[in-house]
Amino acid sequence: MPFVVMITGIPGVGKSTITRLALRRTRAKFKLVNFGDLMFEEAVKAGLVKHRDEMRKLDPKTQRELQLKAAQKIVEIARKEPVLLDTHATIKTPVGYLLGFPREVIEVINPNFIVIIEATPSEILGRRLRDLKRDRDVETEEQIERHQDLNRAAAISYAMHSNALIKIIENHEDKGLEEAVNELVEVLDLAVSEYD
Ligand code: AMP
Ligand code: MG
Repeated sequence: MPFVVMITGIPGVGKSTITRLALRRTRAKFKLVNFGDLMFEEAVKAGLVKHRDEMRKLDPKTQRELQLKAAQKIVEIARKEPVLLDTHATIKTPVGYLLGFPREVIEVINPNFIVIIEATPSEILGRRLRDLKRDRDVETEEQIERHQDLNRAAAISYAMHSNALIKIIENHEDKGLEEAVNELVEVLDLAVSEYD
């Protein structure tokens, strides 16, 4: 049986850092797949964008087509090895929030876990200000709070259309990182028994 863990969290929450550290310590060998990378490959092939931060500005219908193509690739990978899928529960587009996993997409992927990494809005703002590599939207703490609320709601809808369990992991400034990594390792190690 495929084993897929989706890892979500809004930009600046520390998702990539936690993921990288957790993967060094898991007993099962996970393939790390970035959903945005797969969508970006398809988008570039189709001549739609030059930079990944342009994708969320494409019209929603085009984004959904890219999501489905990315999902089909993931299913193929998951047949062979456990997949840790780095992605977003919702995407803030210029015309509104877009579901990261519409029904036909979540049904194809059928994740075992949806992990949500969270931090306080002020922690997230601080981390964003320290990472200037990306073309990130400037948001207020209120907007960050709303986005995190919506992501929890989105996760519920994904669990409705898959067998996923939802796991919320907090990543706070003092000592939080180590604990967050431990919690993710625990979830990932559940894959070991699936592949015995
Ligand atoms: P990231 O590097 O993880 O911030 O992702 C880069 C971009 O990929 C995002 O800004 C989105 O445009 C896109 N992306 C990632 N996951 C999804 C998803 N599930 N649905 C739609 N777009 C996504
Ligand atoms: Mg990232």
